[in-house]
Amino acid sequence: MEDGRASFREIARRTSLTTPTVSSRVTRMLKAGLIQKFVPVLAQDSVQKGVIAFAVLKVDSDPEKVAGRLAEMSEVEGVYLTTGQNEITLKIAVGTVQSLHSFLRENAKEMNGVSLVSTQIITRVVKNSLPSLFPGPLTIDLRCDYCRGEVASLRPYNLMAGSSRYYFCCKTCRAAYLGKYGARLAKIKGTRRE
Ligand SMILES: [Zn+2]
Repeated sequence: MEDGRASFREIARRTSLTTPTVSSRVTRMLKAGLIQKFVPVLAQDSVQKGVIAFAVLKVDSDPEKVAGRLAEMSEVEGVYLTTGQNEITLKIAVGTVQSLHSFLRENAKEMNGVSLVSTQIITRVVKNSLPSLFPGPLTIDLRCDYCRGEVASLRPYNLMAGSSRYYFCCKTCRAAYLGKYGARLAKIKGTRRE
């Protein structure tokens, strides 16, 4: 988490594991989709010109589905389902205030049953930790999205739907999940099994 460019040997030294162990664990985490990619973290203030805003949307029904559609848009950096009933918070990055307004008008608001509750433009970033920097040691508890049982396999059964990934402990659970939610998932672009 601190240094994505650290060598396997360096990570092994710090964690008192062997280099091959670190290497195979990282490979497994990549294959399982737990590590999605390694990227540089830019200083947003100095690198990213433009407008970053939070927008709260209220949806009439099925916030998960609306959130999935919003997640596909390149202007949307973050999509959060929150405790507010049927509310979705978006983090949006665009070039200008004008394009923020047209984005909200044209995309978010035109969706059926979606209304804009509020918009806040960020004026200064005081702190912006990576969401993945958990306080304390990182433990991975992978649960089957159908039966909630532990996913013990090194290569769990996956299901991709848009930017969401589902994990299953076995083929049967994945088939059962598809039986239950398949019609809904089929409407999301980029649904595939792995
Ligand atoms: Zn299962």
